[in-house]
Amino acid sequence: MRKEQLPWVLIAILVLGYLVFNVVGLVLAGLGLFVAYVASVRLHPRVRHTGWRSCNGSGEKRGTIFTWSFHKCPGCNSGRRVRWGAGHFGPDPIQREYRRNLEARRRAKQDSKWR
Ligand SMILES: [Zn+2]
Repeated sequence: MRKEQLPWVLIAILVLGYLVFNVVGLVLAGLGLFVAYVASVRLHPRVRHTGWRSCNGSGEKRGTIFTWSFHKCPGCNSGRRVRWGAGHFGPDPIQREYRRNLEARRRAKQDSKWR
């Protein structure tokens, strides 16, 4: 499933819960989705780096004129990231890795070493 399709599925589940069981259904559907989310960040703690100003999972930022050249993407580790949710609700080693990666990228940018 592509990431762009996901919000519609979530909204459909919430609307269905509301239509069938009213506000109670909405709350139950929300709780169910939260449990599914916590299970998901434990099972799949990583994502490809995509979105605005991303490297689209390549880990490379291409030059505009000399397009065969690149520098390392400052926003990820070789195109992969630990999910925000996994960094906050995931297993301890993943949470440590998340904080360590953030700190390492921050330090590398500060010292201009990520290139
Ligand atoms: Zn990246």
